[in-house]
Amino acid sequence: MKIGILGGGQLGRMLIQEALKYDDDFYTLDPNKECSCANISFFTQGNFNEKQAVLDFGQGKDVVSIEIEHVNVEALEELENQGIKVIPNSSIIKIIQQKILQKQFYKHHQIPSPDFQIIQSLEDDIQIGFPFVQKLNTGGYDGKGVQVIQDETELKNMWNEPSVLENLVAIDKELSLIIAKNERGEIQSFPVTEMVADPKLNLLDFNICPAMLSNDVQNQIDVIAEKFMQAADSEGLFAIELFMDHNGKVWVNETAPRLHNSGHQTQEGNANSQFEQFYRVLKNLPLADTSIFGFSGMLNLVGEENFSGKVKYQGLENVLKLPNAYVHLYGKTETKPGRKMGHINVLADSREELLKQLIHIKSLVKVISV
Ligand code: ADP
Repeated sequence: MKIGILGGGQLGRMLIQEALKYDDDFYTLDPNKECSCANISFFTQGNFNEKQAVLDFGQGKDVVSIEIEHVNVEALEELENQGIKVIPNSSIIKIIQQKILQKQFYKHHQIPSPDFQIIQSLEDDIQIGFPFVQKLNTGGYDGKGVQVIQDETELKNMWNEPSVLENLVAIDKELSLIIAKNERGEIQSFPVTEMVADPKLNLLDFNICPAMLSNDVQNQIDVIAEKFMQAADSEGLFAIELFMDHNGKVWVNETAPRLHNSGHQTQEGNANSQFEQFYRVLKNLPLADTSIFGFSGMLNLVGEENFSGKVKYQGLENVLKLPNAYVHLYGKTETKPGRKMGHINVLADSREELLKQLIHIKSLVKVISV
């Protein structure tokens, strides 16, 4: 089968890596000719935000999918009209692309998500109480385009752009559920992952799986997942990012309609990875077993502050000497502060051991430039 992926980053790379054991041809579209997929797929250099580029790319493919949601949706609609399979479908991508539509979608489908107000510009009256979070309607990524406004003195920091203003949740845990659906209607989720963020870079830092959850919290998540999949009404693999607050109530933060950083530890931690599962969705094959073996975790290898240029992974050999640690690099030659360059998965028999290993490994390795 000819599988086309919009975006040529690490998510696409790991999908292709997993799927090479089957017999398919992967095509990728990305503006950067040195992207992670350029050398491992039939690569087209082009902008996935441009309608014509996406339309041209889709021709002759059996299925077109995404590894980034900021793509030209009009082109995807047109490909669907031409009879080309698009996974996930263009309408759910369109909703998720815009924070305003996404929040309205949750509200409409009674999926719990923090209360919010929409503004088009700073001329609109702000009715939501302090503290609140401003999220740009479009253009936000990896924590950029999100800021907390604590009180009146911070109103001057607000962006004058269409935004969602949302209640600040007193977060106890950030959780993620990865769930897949194929055309036959099978639905299969992975065990819930807990995400521990780096407050400075606002980037995901550790994943820990399985998250330690009460039955009540697990039930809330199950209900959310079911409602989301019904409402989305699309094949695909989705990462539902959740907050558990101090009262044990679960809220949806946002959803990614694609492979996700919070699922990387499934590569070695589960019977099958998110990449295997997504491949099966793209081919409408039986969905894979997602059972977990013990405890698994992941830490991102992120470019250090103050280093830019040709990448060097300092201390990586020390990690390779460890049992139960698995290194994944993304084929990026240039590092920059905060850039995701790779990750390390870790397996352990207990949560305590896992955390200890993750912290130890984090201290061993640094992403710098030569
Ligand atoms: P992005 O799409 O850029 O990843 P998110 O909407 O996930 O942005 O926000 C980034 C981070 O900001 C979240 O992981 C969370 O830590 C914090 N955050 C976002 N929304 C809220 C909220 N309503 N209450 C508290 N913290 C929030």
